[in-house]
Amino acid sequence: MRIDLHTHSSVSDGTDPPGVLVEAAKACGLDVVALTDHDTFAGIPEAVEAGRRAGITVLGGVELSTQFDGRSVHLLGYGCRTDDPPLTAELARLRTGRTGRLDAMLDKLADLGVSLTADEVWRQAGSAPSLGRPHVADAMVAKGFVADRDEAFARYLDDDGPAYVPRYATDLADAIGLIHDAGGAAVLAHPWARGSAATLTAETIAKLAAGALDGIEADHPDHDAGTREALRALGARLGLVCTGSSDHHGTGKTNNPLGACTTTEAAYDDLLRRIGDRGGVQPER
Ligand code: AMP
Ligand code: ZN
Ligand code: FE
Ligand code: FE
Repeated sequence: MRIDLHTHSSVSDGTDPPGVLVEAAKACGLDVVALTDHDTFAGIPEAVEAGRRAGITVLGGVELSTQFDGRSVHLLGYGCRTDDPPLTAELARLRTGRTGRLDAMLDKLADLGVSLTADEVWRQAGSAPSLGRPHVADAMVAKGFVADRDEAFARYLDDDGPAYVPRYATDLADAIGLIHDAGGAAVLAHPWARGSAATLTAETIAKLAAGALDGIEADHPDHDAGTREALRALGARLGLVCTGSSDHHGTGKTNNPLGACTTTEAAYDDLLRRIGDRGGVQPER
């Protein structure tokens, strides 16, 4: 079985609509794919329907924007009831926060000689219900200010870049609780990518595991071989589910083709058992 548990559609900052993404997952030989758009469940019905037609299992998921110690941490939630009132209210708050800082970001960019209007950014958003930095990056590409998203982030939009504007993010422990209360399983996304090992130390992950965390995404394109090995060992020691995924964004990220990293069947079964125990949403097949 080939299982990829982290992908983004055009309902967040990926480039393929959910149905196209699921068909592509089937075409490249995956048996299971999870849709994990940023802070929204909106793409799940279309993805599940496409999975039914194409004959591939679709697990509903989400990637939540959280914070720990003032630093950004991404948390994957799988099998959540998508009508859970506290969780859907929190997702709406996150989306409002993301879109709400657009004007401040455009002001900073204008000061740097990059003039963009909000309309030009909305034009890049597809069916996404909130506007994020990747859409700003796409608008910069469309107007010829930069060659691609990577250059936009490296020169302007990264967390320590000159056009960065912070936004609301859920406290990490609260986010794990919200996912559990909605029946889901909580997995730390790319915990040691892009310098985040300093935030999520082994000691911190151990405390989260003792609290409630279900798993860590050990295999991810942004982790080198040694990092993956170390995370797998840490996960095994702490009784965490170790997943592997591509973090596919269509053409929005170049290093993340579907199936670039995969999850073992045993880890996937463990995840589904946890979702089942909490009364969450199991995939259809
Ligand atoms: P936002 O949610 O608006 O703060 O934007 C953050 C999102 O931008 C992340 O979740 C990633 O999907 C994306 N991102 C972050 N860094 C990069 C990068 N260097 N290149 C492309 N996309 C990135
Ligand atoms: Zn993304
Ligand atoms: Fe992420
Ligand atoms: Fe992601």
